[in-house]
Amino acid sequence: MASFGQVTVKNGSYKIKGDFHQMRENVPIRNADEGWRLMGVTNPRDITHIHMYGGEAPFFENIGKGKILGTRCDNPKCEFKGTTNLPFRIHCPDCLYKNTIVDLTDVCKKTARIHSFMVCKRSGAFNSLEKPIKFINIEFEGVDTILMSYLSVGDPKIGMRVVPIFQTLAPTYTIVDLSWVEEGVDAKDLPMGFTYA
Ligand SMILES: [Zn+2]
Repeated sequence: MASFGQVTVKNGSYKIKGDFHQMRENVPIRNADEGWRLMGVTNPRDITHIHMYGGEAPFFENIGKGKILGTRCDNPKCEFKGTTNLPFRIHCPDCLYKNTIVDLTDVCKKTARIHSFMVCKRSGAFNSLEKPIKFINIEFEGVDTILMSYLSVGDPKIGMRVVPIFQTLAPTYTIVDLSWVEEGVDAKDLPMGFTYA
């Protein structure tokens, strides 16, 4: 079995190792109505996609360490100077100035409330979350945007206080490393790998 593709960046270039395209054996497609005659084959293929985070990389690096970074426009000439963004926005949408990274972990822990929610009993392809998925839109004091995430423990209600939990034990470096629970849940009842900090 070949090894899956791996990437590092060194001297400003991608260094790639392993196989980014993997084939598996074809499987025949047979016709059950006609004596199982051959009609075709399946062509299983796996592709490893190189997904770069660009300027958002600090956000993904930090959720696995129990920190939530947002950004703020500090451009003195911006009409909306001081706008604070979570999710992380690299540039201010009003003036296009590069935003300043700010640590919003405490704000999230102390002021997060459910703004709205939806519960999904089915999911799309490649979903890794347990169903039903309780998607929540979260509002924070002093933050101008709303963050979409998912509730791991508790039943969502509008206005409910929630606190962040982090996949710190085995981070995936994706957005699912950040989740939320109803305030007051015992640390031992958190999902596997998740901690409060
Ligand atoms: Zn701005």
